[in-house]
Amino acid sequence: MNDQQLLRYSRHILLQEIGIEGQEKLIGAHALIIGTGGLGSPAALFLAASGVGTLTLCDNDTVDLTNLQRQILHRTASIGMNKVDSARTTLAEINPEVHVNSLKERVEAARLQELVAQADVVLDCSDNFATRYALNRICVALNKPLVSGAAIRFAGQVTVFDFRQQHSPCYHCLYPENTENEDTRCAEMGVFAPLVGIVGSLQAAEALKLLLEVGTSLCGKLLLIDALHSGMRTIKLSRDANCPVCLNRNHIGI
Ligand SMILES: [Zn+2]
Repeated sequence: MNDQQLLRYSRHILLQEIGIEGQEKLIGAHALIIGTGGLGSPAALFLAASGVGTLTLCDNDTVDLTNLQRQILHRTASIGMNKVDSARTTLAEINPEVHVNSLKERVEAARLQELVAQADVVLDCSDNFATRYALNRICVALNKPLVSGAAIRFAGQVTVFDFRQQHSPCYHCLYPENTENEDTRCAEMGVFAPLVGIVGSLQAAEALKLLLEVGTSLCGKLLLIDALHSGMRTIKLSRDANCPVCLNRNHIGI
């Protein structure tokens, strides 16, 4: 690290759990963020500010006036722009040292597999079950830690699926496919602006800890946030013995 980097990251370096060695790990790390909306915004902002060296952002949407109430990566002047381009501009202003790959695409499975393979940690900041299931399957197959977040109205949740740990559940264990999982969209249900900030920031915190290999992650636990009544609690999450995605994991010997 040069003198400017030592200053920029000094408050991390002061932390015993991070130090120069940890900060160098972050600078050498690559995070994949799927979605640059309400959750992806704070997640990407904190990962970039923290100095995670490479961020790959995927989103096929453009910035709309209705996004600006909560999607804090984007600016009024960015309305109509691709979200990933708007995100890259904002992130470059915060930390020009971070390399940002911005992909304006709703990624298909083969492409997603390629992107996950290149990443050290994956953040699911998407807003639909199809993406969540596809991402989960690929992270299971490639043994990549997945930080999952969701928020609607005043309710948020965060968890980590760390497939390097044998007993980690997967997203499918939590929400089995083919049940009545209808996408609940903010456009119909509404969402409290700071809630997505809380959830996305927690996702960034979990991702950083996974990259640094410090502390205790939310693997095996689901953190539930009630932003209306100011409550947080964690419930235990177990691997589902009948989960078809995890069964596949056994078969390939992970
Ligand atoms: Zn599973």
